[in-house]
Amino acid sequence: KFEYAPAPESRSVVDLRSSYGLFVGGEFVPTVDGRMFKTVSPATEEVLAEVTEAGVEDVDRAVRAARTAYDSVWGPMSGRDRGKFLFRIARLIQERARELAVLESLDNGKPIRESRDVDIPQVAAHFFYYAGWADKLEHAGFGADPRPVGVAGQIIPWNFPLLMLAWKIAPALACGNTVVLKPAETTPLTALQFAEICQQADLPPGVVNIVTGAGATGQAIVEHDGVDKVAFTGSTEVGKAIARSVAGTPKKVTLELGGKAANVVFDDAPLDQAVEGIVNGIFFNQGHVCCAGSRLLVQENVYDEVLDRLKRRMATLRVGDPLDKNTDVGAINSAEQLRRIATLSEVGEAEGAERWSAPCELPDRGFWFAPTIFTGVTQAHRIAREEIFGPVLSILTFRTPAEAVEKANNTPYGLSAGVWTEKGSRILWMADRLRAGVVWANTFNKFDPTSPFGGYKESGHGREGGRHGLAAYLKGAAA
Ligand code: NAD
Repeated sequence: KFEYAPAPESRSVVDLRSSYGLFVGGEFVPTVDGRMFKTVSPATEEVLAEVTEAGVEDVDRAVRAARTAYDSVWGPMSGRDRGKFLFRIARLIQERARELAVLESLDNGKPIRESRDVDIPQVAAHFFYYAGWADKLEHAGFGADPRPVGVAGQIIPWNFPLLMLAWKIAPALACGNTVVLKPAETTPLTALQFAEICQQADLPPGVVNIVTGAGATGQAIVEHDGVDKVAFTGSTEVGKAIARSVAGTPKKVTLELGGKAANVVFDDAPLDQAVEGIVNGIFFNQGHVCCAGSRLLVQENVYDEVLDRLKRRMATLRVGDPLDKNTDVGAINSAEQLRRIATLSEVGEAEGAERWSAPCELPDRGFWFAPTIFTGVTQAHRIAREEIFGPVLSILTFRTPAEAVEKANNTPYGLSAGVWTEKGSRILWMADRLRAGVVWANTFNKFDPTSPFGGYKESGHGREGGRHGLAAYLKGAAA
């Protein structure tokens, strides 16, 4: 049993307001009808703040602000000057990193170690990276005079709130677009803090607009005639609805959707390292990761050993207060997500798989789920096919590399995969055959702004990140 040191000093770095408006045309404004909703801390269920719920008219106002800014300032601005604003934003994110990390952990439930060491540094890195592209677009391979698309409507999920914002806003702005972005309803706070950073950076009003709300607000963005491009990250179900909605319109669309990644461990892999990779693959960010290694494929002759080491490692995971620097696994983001995870886990048991959870004490309040593995899983089981989006690992075995490929690819998704082996030739052989946007070798969940990210099949289309990520925001460009 671990003791969790309270971390009141961390909490105090955040200057939370009791309510937040929409960020439209460079200022915080109320909604037309004054509707609000609450955002809570998933670790304690305390209300953190009230946030406005934007309706169709509010979205219209935001899109018009974005259009005006596009026509009057941002579109005509030189790439070099746009780049200066992006560099300024990147530096302000670094300066305010601690505050942003704490706010992210409060609103999302992720461990402060992750928001501090992964999310926020990656956010700054994306702005720095795309700032560098702003005055070099003619060298990006999309023609001599690449033009922005116009107004981008961007909708993001709750698992990496500020990082998903950075993935969307940094390349869009670098290319000369203006944006209307909607954060997820359970994690609106860091996006609103980002709006303050835009003010601090003197970004021209209307270049970035943040509208908060739930699915209906997102739909209003997607359906607005003034939006030239829709960029969506979220569930495959909503992604398909968006694809249907924009079909037949001139809107450009990119979709980053779900995943059910295979993490493939061969018998020659360095097993301690592989076990770390398995744990990181599925328990990082409570498994709320689209590219999580949620299906472990282990070569049969090392299965017992891997399972034994994995259980021993899982027993050391510290689950609890997201603001405690020792915490490894934080809170589940919402009661609804907790229900989804619990339901699919019950289905796993009902279908005959064997469940084992790490022995840990979970706090009384808040939304929690112990790190869990299922053995005896077959490909027919729902827990082997459906995205659980939580700290739940389904374990299967294989005998030959060909069988590993067949099982890894036996999914409607194709976002990521991992391969653990000492043999370089086998890594290349596997990477050639795995239908996944990214294949990690002897590592997992590694991200970098220079690398494109995106899926095959039902994991979506289009790429974000790297040079490829620019294509989504340039007229007529394909990645
Ligand atoms: P979700 O689809 O429920 O919601 C995502 C966003 O879409 C939210 O902001 C939500 O308010 C909005 N939304 C909901 N209904 C809408 C509608 N009809 N029209 C427009 N917008 C709408 O997904 P979620 O539960 O927030 O996120 C989890 C999902 O996101 C998982 O499936 C995960 O794999 C996926 N994801 C994918 C990536 C990637 O890069 N491929 C990254 C992170 C998360």
